[in-house]
Formats: sequence, structure tokens, C-alpha cells
Amino acid sequence: MMHWGIVFMSTRTINGVTLALLQGDIVKVQADAIVNAANSALAGGGGVDGAIHRAGGPSIMQACRDIGGCPTGSAVATDAGRLSAKYVFHAVGPIYRGNPEDERLLKSAYQSCLDLAEQYKIESIAFPSLSTGIYGYPLHLAAPIALRTITEHIKKPTSLKQVIMVLYGDSSYQAFEDALKTFG
Ligand code: ADP
Repeated sequence: MMHWGIVFMSTRTINGVTLALLQGDIVKVQADAIVNAANSALAGGGGVDGAIHRAGGPSIMQACRDIGGCPTGSAVATDAGRLSAKYVFHAVGPIYRGNPEDERLLKSAYQSCLDLAEQYKIESIAFPSLSTGIYGYPLHLAAPIALRTITEHIKKPTSLKQVIMVLYGDSSYQAFEDALKTFG
């Protein structure tokens, strides 16, 4: 595990599907689909978006241009370029505003990726913590929404065998670890 630069890891098995929390860089994680925290123009940016385009190369941006955009709360699939994944799912989380719509849109962004996973019949997916960087969603509010959406999904029949939350930095990891504990 150290060769991934992964520092901590916590796992839970739900209905035969492994849910793992890792601390590290998502472009170094092995999964059939890597989720990008994209913007609705699919225009690229900083944070995890920049890291994925840098590591994956220009074919991903070309595919994003061809698609043209993605509404907030939804996700689209492209190839994964030079990444070892089969697909990148570009999910658009909400910019946090502090109203009830935030939660619905954040949940919907995660759910759209899980739906794409079923559509493409993939076995593993790696998520970053959507909306909690530049989009300002407080981690302690975003973490339970992310984990609840994932766990509710994998309680039902699914092609997935592994769902990995890749947390960047101590505070993100800790917020997800704390949220996971409240799931019993
Ligand atoms: P958003 O615009 O949706 O907030 P960001 O990319 O700014 O997206 O941040 C989303 C989360 O991804 C943040 O918690 C940030 O710390 C994290 N992050 C940034 N770079 C990486 C990376 N290489 N791997 C995993 N997570 C990352």
C-alpha cells in the first residue's frame, strides 16, 4: 500500500461490497472508474480536476469538449487516457450555498456516478470528496451524505465489488472516518 502513497485505510463490507476509505491521491488509485470533481462546463480546473487531467493526458479533455457540459448534480463518462482506469466519471457537485438544495445536488452527483457504474457494469470505483474543495461544502456535512448515498446503493444488487473514497489530507480523511463510525 505504501507504494500508492496511501497513509490510512479503513474498510467496511456491506452486502459483499467493500467500502474503503483511503487517504491519498486519487490518480494513484487502481479502479475501473475514477470520479472527477468537475465543473458544469467540463472545462478543467484546479484540485482533483487538474490532477486527473495532468495524469490522464489530453484525450480526456478532448472527450469533455465533445460532450460540451454537464448539469450540476449529474455526471458523464469519458475514457481515462493514460490512467490505468477504464473510465473517468466527471461529476458536478454543487457550489455550497447553505440551502436545502445543496444536499439534494450533492447526493445526486454521487448517485449519477453509481448509476454510470451499473450502466458500464464495472466492479470498482474511486471517488474524491465532491464539492468539499473549491466549491466550499463543509466536510462534516458532505461526508455523511456521500457515505449514505453509497451505502444505500450497494445494499441493492450491483455490479460493484469495491467502492473507494479517496480523501486528500488529514481533515478530509478524519471527517469520513467519523461519519463512517455513525453508520454502526
Ligand atoms: P470541488 O470544486 O468539487 O470542491 P476540488 O477538486 O476543489 O473540487 O476538491 C474536492 C476534494 O478533492 C477536496 O476535498 C480536495 O482536497 C480533494 N483533492 C484535491 N486533489 C486531490 C487528489 N489528487 N486526489 C484526491 N482528492 C483530491
